[in-house]
Parts: sequence; structure tokens; C-alpha cells
Amino acid sequence: MRTLIQNVALFDGSGAPLRTASVLVEGERIVAVTEDAGDADSADIVIDGRGQTLMPGMVEAHAHLSWPSSVEKMYHQFVLPPEEMKVATWRNARVLLDHGFTSAFSAGALGDTIEVELRDAIEAGETPGPRLRASTIERSPEGADGIETGKKLSIGEGVEGMRAFARQCAGNGIDTVKLVISGEDALLPGSSQHVLYSQEEVSAATEEAHAAGMKVAAHTQAAEAVKIALRAGVDVLYHCSYADSEALEMLEARKDEIFLAPAIGIIVATLEATPPPHIDMSSMKEVAKPVVENTSRLIPELKRRGIRILPGGDYGFPFNPNGRNARDLEHFVTLYGYTPAEALSAATMLGGQLMGMGDELGLVRPSYLADLLLVDGDPTEDVAILQDKNRISMIMKGGRLHKAPAHATAAAAA
Ligand SMILES: [Zn+2]
Repeated sequence: MRTLIQNVALFDGSGAPLRTASVLVEGERIVAVTEDAGDADSADIVIDGRGQTLMPGMVEAHAHLSWPSSVEKMYHQFVLPPEEMKVATWRNARVLLDHGFTSAFSAGALGDTIEVELRDAIEAGETPGPRLRASTIERSPEGADGIETGKKLSIGEGVEGMRAFARQCAGNGIDTVKLVISGEDALLPGSSQHVLYSQEEVSAATEEAHAAGMKVAAHTQAAEAVKIALRAGVDVLYHCSYADSEALEMLEARKDEIFLAPAIGIIVATLEATPPPHIDMSSMKEVAKPVVENTSRLIPELKRRGIRILPGGDYGFPFNPNGRNARDLEHFVTLYGYTPAEALSAATMLGGQLMGMGDELGLVRPSYLADLLLVDGDPTEDVAILQDKNRISMIMKGGRLHKAPAHATAAAAA
């Protein structure tokens, strides 16, 4: 099956300026990118892009698909009964794909294996969703200021407990182990400065995870938590809102191995939220302000130093539901001084690298997987248009149309 998408303004993911092009897809991959109209006779389906922008599918770098709320259905309970959690999680996978996210790197799940099951169902074509790097329950020490997961960890504490946890994750088919190395002010004010694990514990978990072929992602707010993660060899660092100058040096020294996602979406959503009177978000709003201030200073500096920084922002709460993920790109432009093209490149090219597929995902190049969006308008001028799913006129994942454009013709029948 060959699909020719012609007459598009191509954003190839690299940040290069838009150019007129045609893209030929065969099976799940891109086979040709040409400057002309392409060879329509050799294609089974011809899609007339009508000058719209063709770009790689987006990657959510901090996904929580089992956090239930989406733009389609809000939940006012965080941890759901298992059957309901599964329905919500499967729905959220489809919601992300509907909004142009063809890949998602999970930052934690509310069940041990729910994302493994979802990942496998998506890959088998049983349910629509993004390519998924499945994660674990977010591990924090019992009784500490960790993230509420609704589930007590049954596995032991200390260095041996961390190793056992990593081995259990590997046995479960997990892709990414998630560790909560510092607390979170939104849950308990002041706790972002609490370091919850020792260097030995984080190093042991990371060593064990890497030996089993898994990645490690970590919630790190305090400067010391960032440093512990870096010394341990953690792959993906989230937040880093209180990184000091030594942490910046250490991040820079490992810039070619690590990824960073500030997860600013939830912070902006917290500040904007207008909850009903019985829900008090005042302390959450208070602690969100320094995060905006600090990251507005830190992220441009980290970008200047060449650290790979990605959009992705803890979507899944009623005030920050799954489906609004593309807002993060706009925050990169308005808060962190990114150009729209830089934000798009972070969400696509760097996203492919985060997925561990940088040589086949995140760019529009021959041999790359055909994860493609056709966008009505120019997101390199206004990145906010990606937040309107009606402006995404085509969504293709692995060469298969999840959303077909209006102007497709079967060449054989034409
Ligand atoms: Zn998160």
C-alpha cells in the first residue's frame, strides 16, 4: 500500500524552514520526500495536502494515561476501581492520538501492569493510541512525602528493596521505571526540598533497571535530587525547578545522554484553575508561582547549554485533562522563549530520541516511520493552533490513517 501526500508545506521536525514537498509512504514507513508533486501513478491513495502543513506526530514526554480525566470525561476521583481505570486509560490513549500525539513516554501509572497491557493492545491494533513507553507505579518510600498512587508498595525498602522493585518491573514488561526522588509542593508544601532516597538507593535501582534494558525517569525538584539522579545515571529528569548552578553544570555534562521535561502544563493549569468553592487550590496556586519563575530562568539557560528539553505536562487532572497536551508547546514559546519551530522540534525530533527511536521516529525523512500530521495553518507561526484538534486534518501513525483528510482519492478508482 503506497500513499502519496502531495502539495504540502513540510515541517520535517529538524527546525528547518517550511518547504513545498510531497511525501510517499509505503507500508509503515516514509520512502520518499520530493520537492515536486510526486508520482501519483505509483500510489494507491493520493492525498492533496492543499498547501497545509505536514509535520511529524507529536510526542508527549510526561504522560499519565491512567490519570483519569480527559477533555471527553472528567473524573473527580483520582484513583478509580480497576475496571473503570482501564476504561479511562484506554480512552485517554485514543484521546492523545486524536489530538496529534502519536507517541507517549509515560511518567508513571496507577497500576503495576496497566500500561504494559495498554501498550501491547495498541501495538496489536486492538485499540487506538500512541506508541507507548510503559511505566510503573511512581515509586517513593513508604510513609514519605511521595506521590499518592493509591497502592502501598509491597516490596521492601533500602538498596535491596530498590533492586527488587526494578527486577519486578522488568518481569512485568515495563519500559521505564519511575522514581520520586524529591517530594512535591503541590501535594505537601515544602516537600519539594525533601530528598526521599539516598544516592545508594537510586544508583542501585538505576543499575538494575539498565541491566534489564529499561530506562529510569525521576521526579526531581530539589537541587540535591537532580544531582542524585545524575550521579546514578537516570535517563529522564522531570521538573528540576530548584536546580542550582552545580546541578546545571552536571546536567550539561550529561546532555547527550539525558532528557529533561519541566512539565509546566500542570503548573500553568493550576494557576488558571477556577475550582468550585468546596475545592481549595490556594496552597497549590501559591507553590506554583515560584515554579514558573524558576523554570522561566532555568529552562532558557539549560536550552542554551544544549540539554534536550521536551514539552509534556502531567495531564490527567480535571483542571489539566488529557487531550490538552499541546498547550505545553505554547508554554515553551510564551514562558521559555522558544520559537514555535523550536517547540515543534522539541515535541517531534527530540521526542523520537526520547522514545529511543531517534533514527526512525520524529522526523519526516525517507526510512522513518510515517507518523504524520496534516495541519490546517502554519504552526511555525502560531503553535497554539495544534490545540484545536479540528485543525489537525490528518493523523497517520505507522502509515495507517487514524484520521483521514477530506481530500483523499483512491488513485486506482480515479
Ligand atoms: Zn507526573
